[in-house]
Formats: sequence, structure tokens, C-alpha cells
Amino acid sequence: MENRLSELEGVIKYRLEHQYAELGAQLYISELNAWRSLFYRLRLVGQIPEKYGGLGFGNISRRLVPGEQGFLISGTQTGHLPVLNKQHFALITSASPEANAIQSRGISQPSSEALTHASVYRQPPSICAVVHVHCTELWLHSDRLALAYTSENVPYGTPEMARAVARLFDSGRLQHAGIFSMLGHEDGIVAFGRTLCEASQLLIEQFAKAIAIEQNQARL
Ligand SMILES: [Zn+2]
Repeated sequence: MENRLSELEGVIKYRLEHQYAELGAQLYISELNAWRSLFYRLRLVGQIPEKYGGLGFGNISRRLVPGEQGFLISGTQTGHLPVLNKQHFALITSASPEANAIQSRGISQPSSEALTHASVYRQPPSICAVVHVHCTELWLHSDRLALAYTSENVPYGTPEMARAVARLFDSGRLQHAGIFSMLGHEDGIVAFGRTLCEASQLLIEQFAKAIAIEQNQARL
């Protein structure tokens, strides 16, 4: 068991009760890992020395059973790895954004942004996958792409972010598009859906639109 709190970017800010144990053989990571590797290749997940203080960025998760709280998420400090294995994932068994607390299990501790994922899973039970990436183009053109967003003064991985996400859902702005931008978290984008494929396709589709905006601007 371990508790830690920190204000540093990329480091866990919530109260964590983590049990160091192997994840069961029945937990499959292959689909999660494949999408995560694709985002790594696109440099939307990773670790780049000149970006974000050299810390890892981006994470991916899926709900274990529709409607239930538990979800599997990539571990903290795994951004530099092109391919993960089961030891690099954590199982969130309980999460309380209000109490800023998470209980988890695995060889790795969960991503520092697990609380943001948990706040999305609090919403319609049909949401079974959440992808968080860092994408400069999407983030900079959030406005032109009409993406929903959490405001500049809301830092990532905090109860404030969880409340901001809840407000976004309440506003109805996420009803037709499972994607939003975190303006208080440089390049931070979150996409979600009923499946990993749905969340990821939406993200890639919007990424292409952001690239089109950049290319049109370059031509002017
Ligand atoms: Zn992030």
C-alpha cells in the first residue's frame, strides 16, 4: 500500500491505495495495447525529451464489465515504451473523484490521469473506453473544430478536472461527440466511446481535420 500526493506534472496527484499484485490471467490487454501502440507511433502517446519536461504523456483504458466501475488503464511512467505488457497496466477497482482517491492493483501504479478516466466512466454506462492523448494540432484548433473543452484554470488529474468533466456531460455538449479538449493541460485531449475502436476512430478523424486546418493555413 502506498499513498502519495504531488503537484508535479506527470506524477500522481490523487490518494492512491495500490496493491502490488499480478493481474489475473483472465484480463486481456491485447486490444488496449494495440491501440496504445498505434497512438505511440503517431506520437500522441509517448515520452519526448523536449516536451512536457521529458515526462511520459497519454494513457488508455477500458471498462472491464459494462456498467461496472472497474477499469484497466496503462500504468504511470510507461510513456517511453513502444509496446506494453501486462505488468505495465493497472486495474482500478474503485475510484472516487470527489474524494480524490483511487484503489488499484497491478505491478504498475495507474496513470496519473486515472481520475480523469474515472470521471468519464461515471457518465453513461455505455462508455467502455477512454483514450487520453497529447495532440498539439487538435488542442490548438479546439475552437475551430468546435470541440467541447474544460477551461484553462482546471489542471489535469484533479478533483476540479473531475467536476469540470461532469459539468461538460451535464451541459449536453458531449452527447453527439465523444471528445473534449483540456485547455488547462497542454495538448490534452480525451476521447471516449462504447468501444476502444469507436473512441480511437473519433480521435483520429478529428486529428485529420486539425491537420487539414494546419495545411490550409500554411497555404495562405
Ligand atoms: Zn496528459
